[in-house]
Amino acid sequence: VSAGRPRSARAAIVAIGDELLEGRIVDANSGWISARLAELGIKSDVFVVRGDDADALEGALRELCAAHALVIATGGLGPTLDDVTREAAARAAGVGLATCEEVLEGLRESYRLRGREMPASNVRQALLPEGAERMANRCGTAPGFRMPLGSALLAALPGPPHEMRDMFERELAPWLGTRFAQRSSFARARFLLAGLAESAFADRAGSWMERNASPRMGVTARFGVLEVTLHSEASDAERARALLEPRAREFRQRFGSAIFSEDEARLEFVVGRRLLELGLTVATAESCTGGLVAELLTEVPGISAAFREGWITYSDEAKVRRLGVPRELLEKHGAVSSEVARAMAEGAARESGAELALAVTGIAGPGGGSAAKPVGLVWIAVARRGVALAREMRNPPVDRASIRRYAAHAALDFLRTELELA
Ligand code: ATP
Repeated sequence: VSAGRPRSARAAIVAIGDELLEGRIVDANSGWISARLAELGIKSDVFVVRGDDADALEGALRELCAAHALVIATGGLGPTLDDVTREAAARAAGVGLATCEEVLEGLRESYRLRGREMPASNVRQALLPEGAERMANRCGTAPGFRMPLGSALLAALPGPPHEMRDMFERELAPWLGTRFAQRSSFARARFLLAGLAESAFADRAGSWMERNASPRMGVTARFGVLEVTLHSEASDAERARALLEPRAREFRQRFGSAIFSEDEARLEFVVGRRLLELGLTVATAESCTGGLVAELLTEVPGISAAFREGWITYSDEAKVRRLGVPRELLEKHGAVSSEVARAMAEGAARESGAELALAVTGIAGPGGGSAAKPVGLVWIAVARRGVALAREMRNPPVDRASIRRYAAHAALDFLRTELELA
C-alpha cells in the first residue's frame, strides 16, 4: 500500500450484491460509511450499487478509482462463486490473486475449534489481490483488504452491516487518518424538536437553511419530530466552534421550548426520563393510536416506577365502561372531540390513581372522515390533579400508519410541555 501523501479526499462508495440490485435488501452500508467518512474529513461524491458480476465490477472499480482518491466497497467477500470483489479488484489493478497463509490458517483453526472440517470453498476467502493488505474480520470469517488501485486507494469491507462497521472502526478509520490529512476541522450541534411542522420550522429558520449558509443546517423530519444539525468548518477546531456557537445560541433562543433535547432523538425517552426524575406517575387512554403511546413509553428502561397502566378504549362502549366517559358527551360531541378526550384523560387518572394521564382520540382514516371532522383530526388531552386540558391537532390526510405515529408523538409532546411546567 502506498504511503500516500496527505491529500484532499473525495470518496466513492460501492455496495455489491445481486440482492441489493434486485431490491431484496436495502443498502444500509453506504450511508453509514459516508457519515463516518465525513467525520474523518473525507467527502463522498457518489454511491454505486453493483451486482455479483466480476466484469461489471472490475469496470466500475476502474472508473471510480480514476475519479476518486478513495473507493470503499462493501460485500462480495464470502466464500461462494458469486462473491467476486477480490477477483474484480485484482483484475482492475492488473495483479493476480495470492493465498494469504495467515488467513487460511485462521479459517482452519476456527473450524478445528468447532470440531468441523473446513469446506473447500472457504479457501477462496484466503485469496487476496497481490499487494493488498489484509483487514481482520472479528465478527465473521471473510477478511477485508486495502490496496492501491491506479492513483486511488481501494478498501474492501464485508457486506453484513455489523461486520462492516466493526472492520471500518478497527482496521480502516485509523489507517485513513494517516493517509488523508484533514484539510479542516468541524464542529457540530444537534437539536431535536417537536410540535413544529417542517414547513413552519423552515419559515422560522429563514436564511439559516440556505445551502451555502455557514454554519450549514440540515433537517430531517420523522412523524412530527425534527432533527436539526448545525455544521461548521474551519482551519482548526477552535475556529469551527467559534463559528458554530453564536448560531447555536440564537437557535436555542429562537426555538425555545420546541427543543426537547440536544442529544436524545427519541421523544419517549425524554418524556419517560423526565417522569422518573420528577417521581410522577402516568396512565394512558388511547383510541386511534391503539396503544402506541403506551408502547413507546414502556420502551424506556425503569419506566415501571412511573407507568401505571394503559387502556385501549376503541369503542364508545369501552370509553364509557372503562373510563367513565359520560354517554351524553359522546352523543353530543362525538368520540373525536375536546370534551371526550378530556373525559378519557380524567377517567384514566381517576381509575389508575396516576398523577398524570394522557388521552388520544382521532380519525386515522382512510374512511370515517367528514367535512367537520376530517381524516387526520386528533384530540389529545393531559389530565393533571384530576383536571384535563385538550389540544387539537390537524394532520394532513396522509396514510393511517403515519397519522397514528404523528398522534402518538404529539401526545408525548403535550405531556412533555406539561412536565416542563411541573
Ligand atoms: P459473507 O461472508 O457474510 O458472505 P460478504 O462480504 O460476502 O460476507 P455479502 O455476501 O455481499 O457479504 O452479503 C451478505 C449479507 O450481508 C447480505 O445477504 C445482506 O443481508 C447483508 N448485506 C450485504 N451488503 C449489504 C448492504 N449494503 N446493506 C445492508 N445489508 C447488506
